[in-house]
Amino acid sequence: MSDCIFCRIADGDIPAEFIYRDDKVAAFRDANPQAPVHILVIPREHCESSAHVDDPSLWSVLIDRAVKIARELGLEKDGYRMVINTGEQGGQSVPHLHLHLLAGRNLGWPPG
Ligand code: AMP
Repeated sequence: MSDCIFCRIADGDIPAEFIYRDDKVAAFRDANPQAPVHILVIPREHCESSAHVDDPSLWSVLIDRAVKIARELGLEKDGYRMVINTGEQGGQSVPHLHLHLLAGRNLGWPPG
């Protein structure tokens, strides 16, 4: 979608600090990091939110890539968190499905 910021990032039209990219997924650093490591993992094909996923195989791709990125960055030793905000009360501000990969500090629970 040409008016979607994350589609434009995935297509290289808007700059981002990419961590990983393949034909299905892109991962880049969050512009407003909430932890020392804060990476967004997104499907390259536009999908509004977790509530709009038609093909359940997308989940295995998205989570597989996030776990591999975490492994590549050595995050599993101290741990990390994966978060998918969905809709208004879920705290989603960008209407393109994205998984937050957070690490590098003690992450509080319950979330705010
Ligand atoms: P959410 O609130 O779950 O929708 O998360 C959206 C995230 O996208 C926020 O953490 C923002 O900081 C991040 N974000 C928004 N615009 C950009 C951008 N151009 N590059 C990188 N991250 C962004």
